[in-house]
Amino acid sequence: MQTTYEQFCAAAEGVMAQIADACDRAGRARNEVALLAVTKTHPATAAEYAWRYGLPRVGENRVQEAAEKRPLAPPGLKWDLIGHLQSNKAKLAADLFDRVQSVDSEKLLLALERAAAARSKQLAILLQINAGNDPAKFGAEPEDAERLLETALRQPHLHVEGLMTIAPLSEDPSVAQRTFARLRSIRDDLQTRLRVSLPELSMGMSGDLAAAVAEGSTLVRVGTALFGSRPSSPAA
Ligand SMILES: *Cc1c(COP(=O)(O)O)cnc(C)c1O
Repeated sequence: MQTTYEQFCAAAEGVMAQIADACDRAGRARNEVALLAVTKTHPATAAEYAWRYGLPRVGENRVQEAAEKRPLAPPGLKWDLIGHLQSNKAKLAADLFDRVQSVDSEKLLLALERAAAARSKQLAILLQINAGNDPAKFGAEPEDAERLLETALRQPHLHVEGLMTIAPLSEDPSVAQRTFARLRSIRDDLQTRLRVSLPELSMGMSGDLAAAVAEGSTLVRVGTALFGSRPSSPAA
């Protein structure tokens, strides 16, 4: 990872400039897109840097790693789970995270509802949709999104804020662009059909954030461009 806070700031300025530039080109206001600092595989210092810079949230993809780092990080920082979650870890996830972005099955929804209810808390969630139809990615299939959302809306302790997707890895940038456009159209459809508001579209990472902003992303999840490359990237 970037070793000093000054190096981190320089990287963060670069990412903020990329987001601003993409917003300008898309005719969107710069404050429509938030930056989630993805601290996975990096030490707890990474979360502290993000907080000091003024970023309110960090993203982690493993429950265990967050359990180790969160106690060391600034208490006001919010934590998002962005990696695949097994139902048997729902309780731990409900303890540790302020929002779970990777909800992709009815079984997981129900496990999170039980865990949130037992803790008398409201848990914010996003539904992860495999909008790129990528066999290598987790996420509910687009055809199942409506049923999953209906179930989610019936859970008193879960609050669905929107949708999340990860674009398939590809040399061809139009693949990511199409995936993001698809997620937005799924979102627009669901809002109309079920008469709900799904403001959050979590899409875009270090390599494809400009395309995501062009297609309506409200939250880009950035690791590498902020903290440098990871030793060995665990599969998302
Ligand atoms: C690791 C990860 C990211 C960040 O990826 P970078 O390419 O390092 O910016 C974003 N989203 C998810 C779900 C991830 O697992």
